[in-house]
Amino acid sequence: MLNKVLIANRGEIALRVIRECMDNGIQTVIVYSEADRDSLPVMMADQSVCIGPASPRESYLQMDRIITAAQLTGCEAIHPGFGFLSENPKFAAMCEENGLKFIGPSSSAIADMGDKAKAKEMMKAAGVPVVPGSDGPVSSAEEGKKIAEEIGFPVLIKASAGGGGRGMRRADSADEFIDAFQSASMEAESAFGDGTVYVEKLVVNPRHIEVQILADQFGNVIHLGERNCSIQRRNQKMLEEAPCFGLDDSVRADLYDAAVKAAKACHYESAGTVEFVMGSDNRFYFIEMNTRVQVEHPVTEMVTGVNIVYQQLRIAAGAPLNIEQKDIKIQGHAIECRICAEDATNDFSPAPGKVDFVHFPGGNGVRVESIIYNGAVISPWYDSMVAKIIVQGNTRVQAVRRMRRALAETVIRGIPTTLDIQQAILYNMQFLRGSYTTGFAEKELPAMIRILKAGTIAGEEKRKADVQEESTED
Ligand code: ADP
Ligand code: ADP
Ligand code: MG
Repeated sequence: MLNKVLIANRGEIALRVIRECMDNGIQTVIVYSEADRDSLPVMMADQSVCIGPASPRESYLQMDRIITAAQLTGCEAIHPGFGFLSENPKFAAMCEENGLKFIGPSSSAIADMGDKAKAKEMMKAAGVPVVPGSDGPVSSAEEGKKIAEEIGFPVLIKASAGGGGRGMRRADSADEFIDAFQSASMEAESAFGDGTVYVEKLVVNPRHIEVQILADQFGNVIHLGERNCSIQRRNQKMLEEAPCFGLDDSVRADLYDAAVKAAKACHYESAGTVEFVMGSDNRFYFIEMNTRVQVEHPVTEMVTGVNIVYQQLRIAAGAPLNIEQKDIKIQGHAIECRICAEDATNDFSPAPGKVDFVHFPGGNGVRVESIIYNGAVISPWYDSMVAKIIVQGNTRVQAVRRMRRALAETVIRGIPTTLDIQQAILYNMQFLRGSYTTGFAEKELPAMIRILKAGTIAGEEKRKADVQEESTED
């Protein structure tokens, strides 16, 4: 095993990694910005190194400072978490050059998969179904328009360097195309410093289904089943569940096969996720590979019993996988709710501030990943997610009930959060049927927000849902 690891991240994922290291006798060093001086990861890690002011550019994205901190504290590996430098091939290469193990895949695998247009080309060549679209990046709006006319509208214009749902625009007709192209490219330029875009067919009313992969340094690849992440607002996930309700076994087998093929094609190592969109005909298409641990990894941990972060640490230490595909059995059903410091009644605008009081749920089958405590201050500089609540149940119905119960137990005072909106989702008929698509939020959230504004959440929804629940009891 590793002896000492530097965590180049903040928030709940930093704490997740620190806890895992502590559980395995690994020393930890956390780097932090001035804004995170009083954060739980800083309190919990064995050592901490301040690397700059609040602005991520001046701290969490400062590669030289992080490498130096790792060297000065005698770390042998760096865990990048998610976001920040986790999918930055230059940073992974710098770790490699400085004799530090980057806990993730090689810099070349990150580079290949990070360029989403290129990744699609590689996957297509490997026999993984991809969304029909341009062969690689598109250099001008006119060229893109021609391609869009060939594949047929609606299309999506997507940033090659994209992530977090940014740099993506929909065009429903040739008339809309040029504007959409330019605005996608401009957003990509400002968000990622790279305006390169590509064009692909918009799969109408799809489900977002992704497969968790684990791969070691010896070419062994296994999958840990799928997650349904179709509850998204502006292409950002809100709630995830595993397994995906209502998939038949043959589709599942093909999906797993494609994901393992994808990981092998890029000589993947560590934990990773292969993302697909699935149409109403159950045909699925690769959209991208996330070369890092994901926000929603706990739902997979809950249903497989496999500890993904522990596996990342083991694999980084050079150990071969100690689980085989046949050992992976899906147990029941898990759901995760992302709780964000956002005001749902004001277009989900981030609402940082001081947490006056917090109480988290407990009990059988409930897990909480959060760094907030009474008096903690949520900084405006970073992602608004303040907690993840994850539950596992024997059946989907039980998991839903357990999540309702867990959210009902949760109290967060001082800042607005998305707790109530999550609770409303858990009483929504479309959600309960389990066959919802990525259009869910746009269609269903407005009514929930109206109820929320009126201050009587879940009343009518609950009554309707209880009726539905009885009819779907398994
Ligand atoms: P997941 O599939 O794990 O849910 P997300 O797209 O939600 O991934 O991203 C995880 C975290 O990383 C979020 O906090 C998001 O804001 C951040 N993130 C994702 N991609 C990028 C990117 N390209 N640049 C900056 N931050 C990103
Ligand atoms: P990011 O890198 O920002 O996560 P993705 O390529 O994973 O971008 O797409 C984000 C979301 O956008 C997906 O989860 C899905 O909901 C939607 N999406 C992406 N591509 C398509 C497509 N071709 N058709 C329909 N929806 C799509
Ligand atoms: Mg994605």
